[in-house]
Amino acid sequence: ENKSTPGFSVEKIEHKIALKVVQNGQITLKDVRLPEANRLQGGNSFRDTARVLRMTRYMVGWASTGIQMGAFEATLKYAQERLQFGKPIASFQMIQDLLAKMLANLTACQCLMLRLAQLDDEGKLGDHHAALAKAFCTAKSRETVSWGREVLGGNGIVADYNVARFFADAEALYSYEGTYQMQNLIVGKAITGHGAFI
Ligand SMILES: Cc1cc2nc3c(=O)[nH]c(=O)nc-3n(C[C@H](O)[C@H](O)[C@H](O)COP(=O)(O)OP(=O)(O)OC[C@H]3O[C@@H](n4cnc5c(N)ncnc54)[C@H](O)[C@@H]3O)c2cc1C
Repeated sequence: ENKSTPGFSVEKIEHKIALKVVQNGQITLKDVRLPEANRLQGGNSFRDTARVLRMTRYMVGWASTGIQMGAFEATLKYAQERLQFGKPIASFQMIQDLLAKMLANLTACQCLMLRLAQLDDEGKLGDHHAALAKAFCTAKSRETVSWGREVLGGNGIVADYNVARFFADAEALYSYEGTYQMQNLIVGKAITGHGAFI
C-alpha cells in the first residue's frame, strides 16, 4: 500500500552471494508522512525494537543450527558415495575427523538452542541470551560449513552439491540481525555492566 507514499523508495539489492532466493531491498525514507492508522502499532521506542531483535536473533540461532545439520547430512552422503583409491572417502581417518568436528559443532548448537527454547517457555529469555546464542551458533556454523566444503573437494564450490549453498548462506546469517561483534558487545555489557558499543 505504501509503495506510492511520497518520500518512500526501494531498490533491489543485486549480486548477493548468500540467501539468493530472498529479495532484499535498499529502503530510503525521506520526509515520509503517514496517517496514524498506517503506523506499526506497539513500536514506540528502541525497547520495542529490541524485543523483535531478541526473537529474530533466537531464530537465526536455530537457522544456523539447521544450516549445519543440512551441511552435515549432505557432506556425509557425499563422503559415503565418493570413491578415491578404490574406497569411499568416508573410510579415511582425516575425513572422519572433519565429520566428527562438524557433528560436535552442530550438537553443541542444538543443545544451546534447546536451552534457549526452555528459557523462552519460562518467560526468562533475555536479549543477552539471544545475543550469546546468535553469535555462537553463527560462528560455529561458518566453521562447520567450511569443513563440509573441504570434504567435497572441488565439488564443494559447486552449488548443485548443496554444501556450497550452506557455505554461502552461513555468511549472511553471521552478519544480519546484528553482527558477531554487536552480539558479543551485548553479552559483554550483561557480564560486566559496562556498555562498550561506542
Ligand atoms: C541478507 C541480509 C538481510 C538483511 N535484512 C535486513 C532487514 O530486513 N532490515 C534491516 O534493517 N537490515 C537488514 N540487513 C542489514 C544487517 O542488519 C546489517 O548488514 C548488519 O546489522 C550489519 O550492519 P552494517 O552492514 O551496516 O555493518 P557495519 O555497521 O558497517 O559494520 C561493519 C563491521 O564493523 C563492525 N563494527 C561496527 N561497529 C562496531 C563497534 N562499535 N565495535 C566493534 N565492531 C564494530 C561490525 O561488527 C562489522 O564487522 C540485512 C543484511 C543481510 C546481509
